Amino acid sequence: MMPHSGRLQAWAGLTGRLLDLLFPARCVNCKSVNGSLCPACLATIHPITTPTCERCGHPLPSTQATCLQCTMHPLQITRIQSAVWHDGAMREAIHALKYNRRRDVARPLGKFLAEKMLASNVTCDVISSVPLHPARELERGYNQAELLALETSALTRVPYVRTLRRTRETADQIGLNGNGRRKNVANAFTAEASRVAGKNVLLIDDVATTGATLESCAAALFRADAHSVYGLTVARPRSYTT
Ligand SMILES: [Zn+2]
Ligand SMILES: [Zn+2]
Repeated sequence: MMPHSGRLQAWAGLTGRLLDLLFPARCVNCKSVNGSLCPACLATIHPITTPTCERCGHPLPSTQATCLQCTMHPLQITRIQSAVWHDGAMREAIHALKYNRRRDVARPLGKFLAEKMLASNVTCDVISSVPLHPARELERGYNQAELLALETSALTRVPYVRTLRRTRETADQIGLNGNGRRKNVANAFTAEASRVAGKNVLLIDDVATTGATLESCAAALFRADAHSVYGLTVARPRSYTT
């Protein structure tokens, strides 16, 4: 006889499949009944191939290696990269994942992350994610960055560790300039050393604008003796000036 938890899991799986049949996922961009992000909308999303700063991932006008900001104030984080531009269907997808409870969108977005990670030949022992404040995670019901990291972990078979914690609530980064963003998230995180000491960590978030949040998380991971921290986000705005 199947154990109780096994029966519950089987029941949850059956209910999930029944719900999918009754309410098939609508595309977050064009609303067609053809998956979370339909093939036509997926085809409009392109990987970032133009020059970016080799440290912070900021778009650059030419193939110079690092941007002015990184030359003057080098980041602690080993590197930041993003898979695609934050516009069009991708902007809709990330908005739906964060604000419209569309957890299902994490799957196609996780594919972009895994592809970027594999194409970049990143050395990583564990995958982690930028944490939400516990109150915000409770309100949303999940942490979207963690869902993305779990998908990436499943696709690349690199283990996921939940190691970072937000030690204080921070204001929304939207509307703040580069300096404001850095101050807003400075020392806002701690990491558990037992999970990351000596490890190469791949740190996942949905969007990087200035990279201030990833940098603050990286500082916490380095305080916990991480060996390297590679920041990877699904998307990045095409332009941002500090
Ligand atoms: Zn669509
Ligand atoms: Zn840079």
